[in-house]
Formats: sequence, C-alpha cells, structure tokens
Amino acid sequence: METVLGVIGSPISHSLSPIMHKAAYDELGLDYTYHAFHVESNELKAAIDGVKGLGLKGLNVTIPHKVSVIQYLDHIDPLAKEIGAVNTIVNDGGTLIGYNTDGEGYVKSLINRLGTSLTNRRVLIIGAGGASKAVALSLAKSGVETIGITNRTLSKAEGLSLICSPYTQSEAMTLGIAQARLTEFDIIINTTSIGMTPDIEKMPISLEKLSKGSFVSDLIYNPFQTRFLCEAEKKGANIMNGVDMFVYQGALAFEKWFDKEAPIKVMKDTVLKNLGGVK
Ligand code: NAP
Repeated sequence: METVLGVIGSPISHSLSPIMHKAAYDELGLDYTYHAFHVESNELKAAIDGVKGLGLKGLNVTIPHKVSVIQYLDHIDPLAKEIGAVNTIVNDGGTLIGYNTDGEGYVKSLINRLGTSLTNRRVLIIGAGGASKAVALSLAKSGVETIGITNRTLSKAEGLSLICSPYTQSEAMTLGIAQARLTEFDIIINTTSIGMTPDIEKMPISLEKLSKGSFVSDLIYNPFQTRFLCEAEKKGANIMNGVDMFVYQGALAFEKWFDKEAPIKVMKDTVLKNLGGVK
C-alpha cells in the first residue's frame, strides 16, 4: 500500500486531483496510484487511522476536513499550524505530518503569471474563509506592501488582518469601502465562493471603480471564467482563474511526497483538458 495516495473529502467525485496526480506519475514513470476517497465527518478518524494501518504514502485533504483532520495527525508544519488547516498529509514511516500547500500554491501561481516578485504590490483580498486565510498569510509573508481584506462578515476580515499584521501592513474593511477604494489596489483576489456554478451571475463586489491594468484573480475555476473575471477583463484588467492555484498546490504536495520536482506542465494540461479543453 506504500504505492497508494489519494484525496479525502465530501463531496469528492468531482475532484480533478486523481487525474492530475496520475498524469504526473505516468510522466515520471512512478508506479503509484491516487484515489478519491469519499469520507464523511464521522468517518474521519477511522480514515486517518487507515492511512497508518494500511501504510498509504500520503493524502490530500479537502472540504470539509481541512481543519478537523489536524487533531488526528502527529505533527503539523508551522505554516499549516498558523493557517489552522491541512490539505496535505505525508506518512513518514508511520508518523503523519500535516502541511498546507494552498497558500504557497497560490503565491507561486501569481508570481509565475506576473513574471515578477510581489514586492511593492498592494493586494485586496475578498473573503475571509479557509482559502482566504491560506492565501492571505502566504501573501503577507511574500513581501507584498499591503493587504486589504474585505468580507461579508467583517469580524472575520478583522481577525485575518490581525494574523497577517506581523508580516505586512494589513487592514480590514467593509465591502462598500473596498469597492470605493478599488483604485488603491493593483492585485484584487476573490477568495469567496460567490460566482461559482450554479450561481454564475453573482459578483463578490462591484468592479465599477477598477483601474485599467489591474490584476484580478479568482480562486474559482468552475465556471472557468467567473462573471467577476469577465467584468474585470472588459475593464482592461489582466485576469487569472483558480486553475493555476489548484495545479501548484498539487505540485507542492507531490514534491513533499516524492522529494522531486513535479511535472507542472503535464499536470496543468491534464486539468485543462478535463475542464473541457479550455486554455
Ligand atoms: P469557506 O471557508 O466556506 O469561505 C467562504 C467565503 O465566502 C467566506 O468569506 C464567506 O463569507 C464568503 N461567502 C460565501 N457565500 C457568500 C455570500 N452569499 N455572500 C457573501 N459572502 C459569501 O470556503 P473556502 O474553503 O475558503 O473556499 C472559498 C472558494 O475558494 C471556493 O469557491 C473554493 O472552491 C475556492 N478554492 C479554490 C482552490 C483552488 O485550488 N483553486 C482551493 C481552495 C478553495 P462569510 O465569512 O461572511 O461567511
């Protein structure tokens, strides 16, 4: 079973992780398999015990287990501890170590797309849920000049701003203030689930005041291009959907399991092909 990996979550049948990781194994000639395991919350402990019992090499963890899985692991990487969520488990000879590659995956995808470092960037993050926390903390540590955080529930944005404040200048604000101050930011990131299929007409904030040349990104990749990204593009912004983050978080997990560079291009091409051949 040391050749078995997988992802646990509920729902899980839609996950693109199995085909993405299998493509990487095929590319590098690795004799491993990667499965999607449907695990409900009341089955989580048994599932994690099973990783040790069966000797699985590792797991990815997705909704709704990223926070609750922590209690069943032996060690938590400091970044995952700070984020308070785990998306990758490494089984190191019977010791289960939890990591979070979501935020670093996002930062890598952003740097790759921009082609420059993030120094002096002014970032607005919309949302303050689990994905936002990973993205905000990783951005805060990557040298951005300032981070504004806005969210329907302002207290969550305030809490997240406080967590980021040791690493960069950060500020929480209401959705209305964020909309009014849009020109102060050059990177705007939607980390909420607003605009996801089936509610594809919804927008997290109005982009009326968006400056031409801004960079607008959405963690969502279903639909491939949210209305938020379509409107941003119409206003002359450069845009990025959530595919690259998904690929890079998977690549970072791969590198923790195999200690070798992940074949990013093959992984991304496989995901794009399975999203309908869009580029
Ligand atoms: P989460 O923890 O449940 O957070 C959801 C966020 O969306 C919160 O900020 C919430 O605001 C906001 N929200 C939800 N419905 C809303 C509504 N009707 N009006 C206003 N705000 C609303 O979820 P998550 O795990 O962070 O995931 C968020 C999104 O990121 C999802 O679309 C997910 O698919 C995507 N994601 C993508 C990747 C990737 O690899 N591309 C990875 C992880 C997540 P409140 O705090 O006010 O409730």
